[in-house]
Amino acid sequence: MIGWLDGDVAFITGGGSGIGRAVALRFLQEGAHGVVIFDRSIEGVATLADEAGVVPDRVLALTGDVRSTVDLEAAVAAALDRFGAIDVLVPNAGIWDFNRSIHRTTSAEMAAICDELFDINVKGCVLTVSAAWRALVDSGGCIVMTLSNAAFYPAGGGPAYTASKHAIRGLVTQLAYELAPKVRVNGVAIGGLRTDLRGPESIGMGERSIEQSFAKRTGEPNMWLPLHDASSDPADSTGPFVLLASRRNASVITGAIINADGGIGVRGF
Ligand code: NAD
Repeated sequence: MIGWLDGDVAFITGGGSGIGRAVALRFLQEGAHGVVIFDRSIEGVATLADEAGVVPDRVLALTGDVRSTVDLEAAVAAALDRFGAIDVLVPNAGIWDFNRSIHRTTSAEMAAICDELFDINVKGCVLTVSAAWRALVDSGGCIVMTLSNAAFYPAGGGPAYTASKHAIRGLVTQLAYELAPKVRVNGVAIGGLRTDLRGPESIGMGERSIEQSFAKRTGEPNMWLPLHDASSDPADSTGPFVLLASRRNASVITGAIINADGGIGVRGF
């Protein structure tokens, strides 16, 4: 059977957990020849090849920080050394601000949140592309960025997180323009997912996980969403990444963002 990503090599930041890991698994199941995971923690990657039913050599897990050009450039070099090309880049690593609103955050705290969150979510994304775009030009590849419902609507985070994801919308547009016609640049704006998404270390939220917020929920359908049963399992949000990564199925798509959030934009009031 032919997969949608047969023979491709993907480089995924933040692929050690959550949606990045689920995308890595799905890409392997869609025939990707290799997946490179770049994450500050790669413990969760050990069983990935086994879960996908592929030989371990098809997964390369590299520890690094998306704020470091040294780490990213070394990882791109290692990926090219192992697999010979990068076809799909998924800048995905990120943190959340746990809805820290302007009302309940001091100026000093907000400064710390903005510095750390923008460094990871925005600068980290730009630096990831800086390190890999030449390889993508060589392969005629593509970029699929991870956005959020917070890139379009309020209440998906506080001001810092929401602004950071709006910034990624700008990056999709600008980089689609700059890298055409060789490289397509698109994004997926996912909704709330049950992952290990953390907060800024600088205000003591580095060990807090969005999973704890989900754990409080009862398992009832989410009546707040038009698609009440929209799953919070990351695996169910991987399809749009596969579509946008696929040469065969998305060759005419660039500068686009798929909203994959259970229909938040049509919920009315
Ligand atoms: P996650 O914590 O499970 O995965 C994120 C990964 O990024 C982690 O493995 C983490 O180690 C890594 N990471 C964080 N900072 C890093 C850094 N400086 N350098 C390298 N790696 C780093 O969380 P997730 O929910 O899968 O988040 C992935 C993306 O999805 C993020 O961009 C997030 O904003 C976005 N998102 C998540 C949700 C949600 O509800 N979980 C909703 C919308 C968007």
